[in-house]
Amino acid sequence: METTESPSEQAKSPHEQLDELASQIVAGAGRLAAATGAWLLLVADFDARDGAYKFGLASTAQWLSFTCGLAARTANDHVRVARALAAFPKLAEGMAAGIVSYSHARAIARVAKRGEFRLVDDLLDVARYGTVAQLEVVARGLLTVDHNENPSDQAERERVSHRWGDDSMWGLSAKLDPERGALVQEAIEKVANTEQISKAEALVRLAEIGLAALADADKPPRELRGDERAAVVIHLDVNRIPVDDDGSAEPNRPAARIDQGPGLPNAVVQRLLCDGRVRTLLMKDEHMLDVGRTHRLVTRKQYRALLRRQGGQCAHPGCPNTKRLHAHHVIPWLVGGPTDMDNLVLLCERHHVSLHDRDYRIRKLGKGAFRFESPDGVDLAHPIEAIKPADLPAIETEHSDVDSRAATTKWDGQRLQRDYAISVLAQRRYSGTG
Ligand SMILES: [Zn+2]
Ligand SMILES: [Zn+2]
Repeated sequence: METTESPSEQAKSPHEQLDELASQIVAGAGRLAAATGAWLLLVADFDARDGAYKFGLASTAQWLSFTCGLAARTANDHVRVARALAAFPKLAEGMAAGIVSYSHARAIARVAKRGEFRLVDDLLDVARYGTVAQLEVVARGLLTVDHNENPSDQAERERVSHRWGDDSMWGLSAKLDPERGALVQEAIEKVANTEQISKAEALVRLAEIGLAALADADKPPRELRGDERAAVVIHLDVNRIPVDDDGSAEPNRPAARIDQGPGLPNAVVQRLLCDGRVRTLLMKDEHMLDVGRTHRLVTRKQYRALLRRQGGQCAHPGCPNTKRLHAHHVIPWLVGGPTDMDNLVLLCERHHVSLHDRDYRIRKLGKGAFRFESPDGVDLAHPIEAIKPADLPAIETEHSDVDSRAATTKWDGQRLQRDYAISVLAQRRYSGTG
């Protein structure tokens, strides 16, 4: 039987004790790398299956941050490394063997793009035979302008482009979601009408106004509340809006149209009604029920109180968004849901859209408290608690097979020839097969 304080240990000099401590730390670092690598491969698997969406969050990083208590930036780094481990088996093997540290993997993950196996091999050599500081210098040097991570659906669907014509005139083309396009159109027409200028002049005028507002450093433009946005008129027939018992409408049947524009799906209409981002002409049997700015819109005071209640961010569990929050009526205004604190939550645009698309739902608990749940009833604030312990696998954490000196560098003390190293690696990177 072993005890921590054997007679021989007491006889060790402080010098020897430090050696022992140092080798334990090195051995521990190797096992940590192995454990981290194994854990990150789980994250990569979760990421590849879009696991975060099941819990109503926009990204694996947001989910990690919320569920595992990682700072947002740390979570982003971990996800990037996890994806790199899944894409480059040698990187994963290096971590499993305790040779490649998390810091090494993070530096490599920043530069290596899909399929760049040779670059990863080269950088692993730099990691192995250099210091991590040297690896980071090389990686930063190789890092070109990229980082177009995860463009959102909206960014993919919508676009604005321009081109120079043969006559040296400037052409602008834009593709936007209908209600957003209508907003731009309304702005151009309103400026044109108010200032008695052409639409082309109005577009230039809009640019001037926007730039002037941004340049006015003393009074930067603030975030607009829903009811303060430019008014776009949509015609809405109450009789055609099917609302079911939990307040959400059948999502895809159009019940409204933009003034002289296309029909809008119900989910969009419900969302617009919540927020007053457009001015709705609410019709029932030819009678006008409501024209926008009335009691269904939150007051400035209510909006501020809602912000305070939610700590300034979106109410969806785990969502860090603080910008452009929409006031959502939990029980829709159309079926009598009041515009008061107990019936309102502020949601970011993404969560407002996904709520009306029925990706999740909100239940009123009273006194301004709400429960966010998935379509199958899981409490999104505590998603892991819903998993039965019996369904959880045993997690292997020991990694005692890792070589006790795996984590330490093989650096021979040479100074890094930065420019030379980077140019050689860049040449290899862009020449021939990877
Ligand atoms: Zn809403
Ligand atoms: Zn959100």
